[in-house]
Amino acid sequence: MSSVQDQKGYFGQFGGSFVPPALQEVLEYLAEQFYKFKDDPEFIEEFRYYLREYVGRENPLTYAKHLTDKLGGAKIYLKREDLNHTGSHKINNVLGQILLAKRMGAKRVIAETGAGQHGVATATVCAMFGMDSVVYMGAEDTRRQALNVFRMELLGAKVVAVEKGQGRLKDAVDEALNDLVQNYKNTFYLLGSAVGPHPFPTMVKHFQSVISEESKRQILEKEGCLPNAVIASVGGGSNAIGAFAHYIDEPSVRIIGVEPDQAATLTEGVPAVIHGFKCLVLLDEEGNPKPTYSIAAGLDYPGIGPEHSYLKESGRAEYYTVSNEEVLEAFQVLSKTEGIIPALESAHAVAYAIKLAPTLPKEQILIINISGRGDKDVEQVFNMLKK
Ligand SMILES: *Cc1c(COP(=O)(O)O)cnc(C)c1O
Repeated sequence: MSSVQDQKGYFGQFGGSFVPPALQEVLEYLAEQFYKFKDDPEFIEEFRYYLREYVGRENPLTYAKHLTDKLGGAKIYLKREDLNHTGSHKINNVLGQILLAKRMGAKRVIAETGAGQHGVATATVCAMFGMDSVVYMGAEDTRRQALNVFRMELLGAKVVAVEKGQGRLKDAVDEALNDLVQNYKNTFYLLGSAVGPHPFPTMVKHFQSVISEESKRQILEKEGCLPNAVIASVGGGSNAIGAFAHYIDEPSVRIIGVEPDQAATLTEGVPAVIHGFKCLVLLDEEGNPKPTYSIAAGLDYPGIGPEHSYLKESGRAEYYTVSNEEVLEAFQVLSKTEGIIPALESAHAVAYAIKLAPTLPKEQILIINISGRGDKDVEQVFNMLKK
């Protein structure tokens, strides 16, 4: 896998850890424990056990015959993270982190969530492992996502509505960090994407890289060769880095990330520090993080994982944007051709594949990472299409 990352969590100029000293100590301890356990045979065995018996891995790499025929170009395969328990790739990471939390002796897990997807995944594994969980969520977001709040409560989590600031994700992150600094002795902060200060991006990649470990083995079995390209949607970057990890050192494989055109961090961002790490960030004229907007709640973030920032700068990966109209079209096309309703986030990757595949010869092979299923988005799409 990528060898660019050093022990302090830098990927070229990106990454690192820019936090107050009290938090720095907590993160250094976390990094030490992560490096200690990640290669421990018992830890690996337990992680594999739950991936198999609880998440339902390995999931298939499905040949999308009808989509391929319709587009008339490269052969398209779908990596089916939508079939995981709880319906997306997020479970891979929360499972890895909770096993680490357990080994570190934590009694309590905290997390922050925007739209609620990561909060639900965290509450799920905490229920499974009998841990107390507290999920910080902006007050505004708790009102907009009342059903996800209830889902977390059903799973036994305590949801704290953060009224401070604008009552959004950023304010929830601040509260969670305050909690961690005060309670680090018994508390584990479970982060949901490949962002944040070291060691989070490295840790999240490690647990998500099971996606490309499987897809590489599966495509070699099915086709006897590597794919020509792997395509994934990018929010903070966790499903994409997991889908790319085992191809980064395979120069014949194009790796392609897809963003919403109204949250085009990698396409239009500049290097800056946000939330304790350096990455490409969308800034306004005054140099403040620019408000982003995406129809896919999971992609609505002004920063991006440090490794993606590096892969973009070094030219190893390509990043493109798609419009809301293209995403809505892709959402329907995959539903109709393959009987698979993708998450709106995943539909971004499908939308770019729909543009790319017809330009490539039939011998070429594309893998699209279907990061999640679209059940959660059906009502929203209904409202958009019937308007
Ligand atoms: C959260 C989410 C994303 C975006 O997060 P990444 O960390 O960029 O993967 C993408 N797809 C689905 C289904 C999600 O739930």
